[in-house]
Amino acid sequence: MPQTIGELFAFDTLLRDDEKAIVDTVRDFGNKRLRPNIADWFDAGSLPVRELAVELGALGLFGMQLEGYGCAGASATAYGLACQEMEAVDSGLRSFVSVQGSLAMFAIWKFGSDEQKDSWLPEMSAGRAIGCFGLTEPDFGSNPAGMRTNAKRDGSDWILNGAKMWITNSPVADVAVVWARTDLAEGSRGIRGFVVPTDTPGFSAPEIKRKLSLRASVTGEIVLEDVRLPSSAMLPGVEGLRGPLSCLNEARFGIVFGAVGAGRDCLETAIEYAGSREVFDKPLSGYQMTQRKIADMAVALGNSHLLAMHLGRLKDEGGVKPEQISLGKLNNVREALAIARECRTILGANGITLEYPVIRHANNLESVLTYEGTSEMHQLMIGKALTGVDAFR
Ligand SMILES: Cc1cc2nc3c(=O)[nH]c(=O)nc-3n(C[C@H](O)[C@H](O)[C@H](O)COP(=O)(O)OP(=O)(O)OC[C@H]3O[C@@H](n4cnc5c(N)ncnc54)[C@H](O)[C@@H]3O)c2cc1C
Repeated sequence: MPQTIGELFAFDTLLRDDEKAIVDTVRDFGNKRLRPNIADWFDAGSLPVRELAVELGALGLFGMQLEGYGCAGASATAYGLACQEMEAVDSGLRSFVSVQGSLAMFAIWKFGSDEQKDSWLPEMSAGRAIGCFGLTEPDFGSNPAGMRTNAKRDGSDWILNGAKMWITNSPVADVAVVWARTDLAEGSRGIRGFVVPTDTPGFSAPEIKRKLSLRASVTGEIVLEDVRLPSSAMLPGVEGLRGPLSCLNEARFGIVFGAVGAGRDCLETAIEYAGSREVFDKPLSGYQMTQRKIADMAVALGNSHLLAMHLGRLKDEGGVKPEQISLGKLNNVREALAIARECRTILGANGITLEYPVIRHANNLESVLTYEGTSEMHQLMIGKALTGVDAFR
C-alpha cells in the first residue's frame, strides 16, 4: 500500500491530541463544505462571505489564537495547523481567516480600548461582523512608512483622508482597521491605527475585479473622504509602524503553515493522477522521472512543514522573532509555488483546468508570494539579521 506524505514523515507524532482534533475538525469541514464549492467560487470570482463567516465563526476559526471575547484561546501551533487545512482547500479561504483573526481582530485585541474590544471582538469572533485591515496604499506597498493617508484633528474628532489599495474584504467589511499618519512632521512615528465602521460617511470600498489569483477572496480599495471619527476611534495602545508590523507578523505566521497546505493538496493530487494516468502503456507514476519529481517535492514539502512546526513551538514557548517568521514565509511560499508548478506538469493539459485544484493553488500562491511582505522583503529581513546591514534602501 502506498503511504501518504504525512505517514512518510510521521507528522502525526509531532502533534498533541488537541491539535490532532483541530486538524480533523477543520479538514472535515473543508472536505464537506468547502471543497465541493471552491472551484465554482473561484470560477465566478465570488464568495458567499456572510454565510461562510458565520460558519467559520461557529468552528472557532476567527481569532482562535486569542483569549477572551468568544475566541478559542488555542495555541499558535493549533492556529497554524487550522490555517494549513484551510489553505489545503484554497488560499483565498485561509486569507479570510488570516485577515479577520490575525490582522483586524488582533489589532483591536492587542492595541484597542476596552470599548473597542467589547463592541467588535465578540461579533467578529462569531463571524457576525467582518473586518479588514488597511495598510497598503496605491503608491506604498513594501514601504508602508511612506503612507499618505492622514488623520487630522478637528476639535476632539479625527478627520481621515486618503486611499488604501488591495485590501482583503474591504468591500464586504463592517469595520476597517485603517493606518494613517497623524502628523506629517513626525515621520513613521506619527502613524496610528483607527477603528472605522464602514458605514461612516465618506468611507467607500470599491471592489477590485478581474483578478486571476485569489478569486475566491474579495479584494478592494478603501477611499477615505473627510471621514469624521470620534477621538475614541483611535487604537490607544500603539504608535508608529510597530503597530501594523506586529499584526502582519501574526498573519505571516499563519501563511507559514498555510502554504504547506496548498503544496500538500497539489502533491496529493499529482500522485493520485500519476497513478491512474497511462502514458506509453503504463501508469505515469511508474516512470523514474515522475518519481524523482514526486520525491523532490515531498522532501521540500516535508521540510516546509517541519519548519512551520518549529516556528509554531517557538511561538508557543514565548516568542518567535520577526526574522524567523520571514524564514518561514519566504521558504514555505516559495516551495509551495514551485511544487504547484511542478505538479501542474504531471497533470499535463488537465493541469490547467479547474477540474483539478493545482492551477488554482498555483495562481493563488502568486498573491501569497506578494502579500504580507514580498519574497524580496523577507530576503532583506534575513540578510539584515545575518549581516547586520540594513539594505532596504
Ligand atoms: C490579493 C491581495 C490581497 C491583499 N490584501 C491586503 C490587505 O488585506 N491589507 C493590506 O494592507 N494589503 C494587502 N495586500 C497588499 C500587499 O501587502 C502588497 O501588494 C505588498 O506589500 C507589495 O506591495 P506592492 O504591491 O505595492 O509592491 P511594491 O512595493 O511596488 O513592490 C514591487 C516589487 O519591488 C520589489 N521591491 C520593493 N522594494 C524593494 C527593495 N528595497 N529592494 C528590492 N526589491 C524591492 C518588491 O519585492 C516587488 O517585487 C494584498 C495584496 C494582494 C495581491
